[in-house]
Amino acid sequence: MTSFEGRVEELRNVSIDCFENSNIYSTTFFLTHCHTDHMKGLRSYIFLKRLADETNVHLYCSEITAHILATENTFAEVVHKIRVLPVGVSTIVNIPSHTGPAEDITVTLIPTGHCPGAVMFLFEGEMGRILYSGDFRLCEGDVSRLRQLHYLDGTVKAIDKLYLDTTFLSRQYLQFPSRHSSISILCSHISSWLQEEPDNAIYIEMPANYGSEAVFIEVAKCLGMKVHVKDRAYNIYKNIAEIREAVTDDPCCTRIHACLPCGHKFLTGDKTTMLPCQGKLMKLRIIRLCAMSFTSKVYDGSLESAVLQSACKELFRICYSSHCSYRELEHFVQYLKPRQIEACVIPRNMEVADILQLLREISRGGNGYIDLPVLTVSSRKVTRNGVSTDVKTFFSSRHTEQQNTITSHNETNMKEASQCNMQNEEGYVDSEICRLIAEDLKPKIGDHDVDVRHRISQAFLETAAALNKPAVRKNC
Ligand SMILES: [Zn+2]
Ligand SMILES: [Zn+2]
Ligand SMILES: [Zn+2]
Repeated sequence: MTSFEGRVEELRNVSIDCFENSNIYSTTFFLTHCHTDHMKGLRSYIFLKRLADETNVHLYCSEITAHILATENTFAEVVHKIRVLPVGVSTIVNIPSHTGPAEDITVTLIPTGHCPGAVMFLFEGEMGRILYSGDFRLCEGDVSRLRQLHYLDGTVKAIDKLYLDTTFLSRQYLQFPSRHSSISILCSHISSWLQEEPDNAIYIEMPANYGSEAVFIEVAKCLGMKVHVKDRAYNIYKNIAEIREAVTDDPCCTRIHACLPCGHKFLTGDKTTMLPCQGKLMKLRIIRLCAMSFTSKVYDGSLESAVLQSACKELFRICYSSHCSYRELEHFVQYLKPRQIEACVIPRNMEVADILQLLREISRGGNGYIDLPVLTVSSRKVTRNGVSTDVKTFFSSRHTEQQNTITSHNETNMKEASQCNMQNEEGYVDSEICRLIAEDLKPKIGDHDVDVRHRISQAFLETAAALNKPAVRKNC
């Protein structure tokens, strides 16, 4: 779960994978992939309005990510503002500025193997070379094959700053099986269960709504049987040639299913389980693909240790990770030797100090990477009144710049918002935050960007007004 707040300090006017709080003020947005922790604020009224209304504001992503967004009605009004960048090829992107001339930067999308359409962004320009990894799984050796990270003569490009997916930066997760191995184990499990009896069926439980499509492709190839997926997923997959052949929206033509929302609670009978798409109790084996349960104490590198049978007999867990293990992160960092690293995920039960220590360790591991990089951690913290520290930082930095009296005014409002939250007045705080931001963005004497400030400020005010309206209670 990323804690990255959206801003890359080296790139003004750019926000990545976060579309709320002060990010709304950016002109150029990048989305690495369609997982909810990277889409915060993307569906909000305020962001969509800004994207739709501002001529120079765009959202950049890969073609598959754009396809996924286009299947949602929410994005119908902004589809024309979503710009597809080709994977593997460098593209010059113009970054408009509120206060000065626009800036050109070179952006290269690098596939991350995390889920369909997921990419890293390599930014190159006057600010240096920045690699934003997004979520990724590259096995040892994969990075040396990424030509986008090398010069023509094969030497590694010098990375000034690496924003790193540190989901499994923990000595508890030293290694994971390659996804190829995980899928082979899965296929042999499915095959033996289906052969036992003609009525046996399989349910594959995925860690997220998207991300495990490579599994469907391999399972369909190996078993000669398509995977039943939910209609919404099918509508996306039918546009992606590689996946289309592996899935079906017809529940009756297969015994392999992955057709329920994440976290579905199965009803069980005597040795049987209810599969809603069949409308009956059946002999169903559930296979959960996950990584969290496979600490180094459980998974020792052997195939047998990559499978866990649950106390509930027909639930099996198979180790499958779409993020790098500790060793893979170590290899990646030592290969690239970036000058700075920012950890973008705070793993469960870890403090910032622990992550910094582990970053230090992976930076000076076996290959003699002695010049320690500068290390930082992104931490999206939310205060009691629901105002993210990001908003506060934005306020304070702008106030320092302008040295005006609004600081104390806003601080008073923040306190009021906080008190209202304690009184549990639902909805009030959100509208108050919008009103505060609107106030802060109002054009001031000497501003060069009066028009854009005025429009954004108005949009925040409209949102504040909409949020203040009492909800209409429907009688069911
Ligand atoms: Zn993530
Ligand atoms: Zn993800
Ligand atoms: Zn089904």
